[in-house]
Amino acid sequence: MKSILRAVKKRLGVDIQKEKYAYDLDEQFGYMAKAKIPDRWVSTTCGYCSVGCGMFIGVKDGKAVSVRGDAKHPVNEGRLCPKGLAEHYAITAPNRAKWPLFRNDNVKGKFKRMDWDEAVRTMVAHFRDIQERHGAEALGVISTGQLVTEEFYTLGKLIQLGFGTKNFDGNTTLCMASAVSGYKRSFGSDGPPGNYEDLEKADLVFLIGANIADNHPILCYRLEKNPQKILIAADPRVTKTAMMADIYLPVKPRTDIALLNGMMHVILKSGFVNEEYVQKHTRGFEELARHLEKYTPAYVAEITGLSPDMIRKTALLYAKARAPFIGWTMGVNHSTQGTETVNAICNLALMTGNLGRVGASPFSITGQCNAMGTRESGFASSLPGYRKFENAEHRRELAALWGIAEEMIPSSRGLAYPDIIENVLSGRIKGLWVIATNPLVSFPNQAFLRQALENLEFLVVQDGYHPIPTSEAAHLVLPAAVWGEKEGTFTNSERRVSKVNKAVDPPAEAKPDFDIFLMIARELGVYDRLFPGWTKPADAFEEWKKVSRGRLCDYSGLSYALLEQHGGVQWPYPEGSARDPRESFPLYQDGIFQTEDGRAKFWVVENEAPPESPSEEYPFWLNTGRTVEHWHTRTKTGQIPLLNRLSPEAWVEINTRDAKRLKIQHGDYVRLESPRGAIDSITVRVTETVAPGQIFVPFHYAEANANNLTINCCDPISREPNYKQSAVRICKLEPRGAKLRK
Ligand code: SF4
Repeated sequence: MKSILRAVKKRLGVDIQKEKYAYDLDEQFGYMAKAKIPDRWVSTTCGYCSVGCGMFIGVKDGKAVSVRGDAKHPVNEGRLCPKGLAEHYAITAPNRAKWPLFRNDNVKGKFKRMDWDEAVRTMVAHFRDIQERHGAEALGVISTGQLVTEEFYTLGKLIQLGFGTKNFDGNTTLCMASAVSGYKRSFGSDGPPGNYEDLEKADLVFLIGANIADNHPILCYRLEKNPQKILIAADPRVTKTAMMADIYLPVKPRTDIALLNGMMHVILKSGFVNEEYVQKHTRGFEELARHLEKYTPAYVAEITGLSPDMIRKTALLYAKARAPFIGWTMGVNHSTQGTETVNAICNLALMTGNLGRVGASPFSITGQCNAMGTRESGFASSLPGYRKFENAEHRRELAALWGIAEEMIPSSRGLAYPDIIENVLSGRIKGLWVIATNPLVSFPNQAFLRQALENLEFLVVQDGYHPIPTSEAAHLVLPAAVWGEKEGTFTNSERRVSKVNKAVDPPAEAKPDFDIFLMIARELGVYDRLFPGWTKPADAFEEWKKVSRGRLCDYSGLSYALLEQHGGVQWPYPEGSARDPRESFPLYQDGIFQTEDGRAKFWVVENEAPPESPSEEYPFWLNTGRTVEHWHTRTKTGQIPLLNRLSPEAWVEINTRDAKRLKIQHGDYVRLESPRGAIDSITVRVTETVAPGQIFVPFHYAEANANNLTINCCDPISREPNYKQSAVRICKLEPRGAKLRK
């Protein structure tokens, strides 16, 4: 121990004699180390991103004092990224919500405490009253990708069958609805076909709009285990991931479809179409082939800004690869053409027969820790178990499983998240329940959202953190337990279901979301009918296993014990499965898809201009995204000193040439303006990571909110917003706070 301390002191350059505090460093470090030695370790799954790393929470005297990676976990083999390594601090953050709070004297941001019984009675009474006066659909609910699957399953039943409103969606629509819609259109069902193992086994990895180095860091570790692969990254910004690539494709913003169509054109003309696969397992290829005629390398070069040679070379590298993997995230999904871009990716994989095998997959990397859980078991954009609202047989199956009348199950989906907000603005929705999400930072076009929320009669915010911008606008705040304080399961991007465990009690009167949902069900009078005898998440898990039986996402062979034993198991895992639970399992190995005729479908997609482009008045493209140190709107990471010291404030990346022209220097402050709003002051990073005419702002920071600028236009199919391209202008400021000088 002494030698370690000596090394630490040397490294820090600490000279105790010169320290004005003159404290005993040995004692200090010794105390810190002792305080962090846990009494016990509790195994669980990381609660941030969809990589789904296995880890342990160290508990001492009933408090979470440390974390460490689980060396035996199949996803991360002991590694954790900076967020994961500091995750226990999110449990003890000073901004934890501790008591139910009711808006005092109807003054926004001013609250008085309420006990739980009164809070639940108040909530149900207000929502019931709104529904009686304005109809069942006057209640909207916006959930999250942060709950455990058992909670999503319970919540869906509570809202759709208990409150009887269809207007229920998740913040997951803001990040991966286009992947869902794209998969449904191409393959007949949601469900990423590939595995993380593909990153290790593919001979070519093609990442489109996916900055995994910042957003899914442990996947970089999986990639590093495959030194033979060729890594291609297509992105308008030279991200950390682009810097890792063998080939970087600096595409112009929103030109992915042109690139993909151009690659398919080259593959078609060069005779690399897998005709046997196309003939046996797909439909619609002839129409696609006709459409691809015009996407010559020269034509695509004009649109994308890449050279015709580079387009040809990329296409042939993909076509000739033994097992090529295509991964994407928000660069694809955050677009009014997100769904169609996903279809173009699936077209490319289908025409070359590159799916259903280890290494070969079109793979959407999701965002939140359990975005997949809500996709599978939720009751928002589809019926639980990837069933369809429009399918009478699916509704009959569920009605029989739940012992309810078939008519209680809606035959069409309700409003998606952005449409719920539009209906709040128009006054059709009067009551809103927001669960574990923070739209007053994360929703595009904040001015529009703020105006909409003013119209609400009653806003309930259920969250682990308060105050946060959205909870401050609430009439009622329900304090929820967070990761580390509750039990259930998460599904990661590769369909691996992992166990999440409780290590410590929630603070003060905060409760697990599951318990809150059951309390509300009791108050509504639907508990006995919908959740008979349920007391714990395992009750929901057992019912969910029955509901998923025989579906693509079959959980029927899973149990909590099996998940604990193997650190996560991929679905489908039907009862009696002989598969080694740790083995990776690609979907569609038999080439049979979830469509009516079992064939995958090619979609003809055209490259279109985004809803807004730079103009004389607003001459820059704004691109938004994430940084490794923070999580979404910083409700979890904003109070963690370790992460804040690494990334304390927002910044704007501006190209060197633009900076020179505008006489802006690195470290200056500027104001950013779009037709919708402004960031008053933000620090400049002069860099070559963005091209001239483009800027980048991370979207985590409420105080310099990129979503004051973004446009709230959505993909017409998935309803996912077009976060990635907005037109803005840069106004130089004198030193911070000084008068604006345009
Ligand atoms: Fe958690 Fe994702 Fe980091 Fe893994 S990569 S530790 S899941 S935030």
